[in-house]
Amino acid sequence: MLPTSQLMDLTGQLVTLKTCYELTEPEMQKQPDCPHCHFNLAENDSKPVHGRLGQIKDKTDEVLNGWTNTLKSALEDPMLEEQKALCVFQTCEAAGAVFPV
Ligand SMILES: [Zn+2]
Repeated sequence: MLPTSQLMDLTGQLVTLKTCYELTEPEMQKQPDCPHCHFNLAENDSKPVHGRLGQIKDKTDEVLNGWTNTLKSALEDPMLEEQKALCVFQTCEAAGAVFPV
């Protein structure tokens, strides 16, 4: 019921972001190539990660809101109310409860 593809897409975007915890700022200023993981900023998509993280976060909030609304409207569905009522009735009946006619 929930569009998990949106979440998969966001996860995919996060995975493509490169993280290196060893690179220091002076090293980065000396050369575009990381001496630790050999990631070369000049050879790769050089969109700033900072902005992209913000975008992904915004998109995550959007997906969350979408899911919340989907769940809310699904729970408010009158069909579901009927099904719930029927379900309770059948459960009680199966348990041998006697209903006034
Ligand atoms: Zn590195």
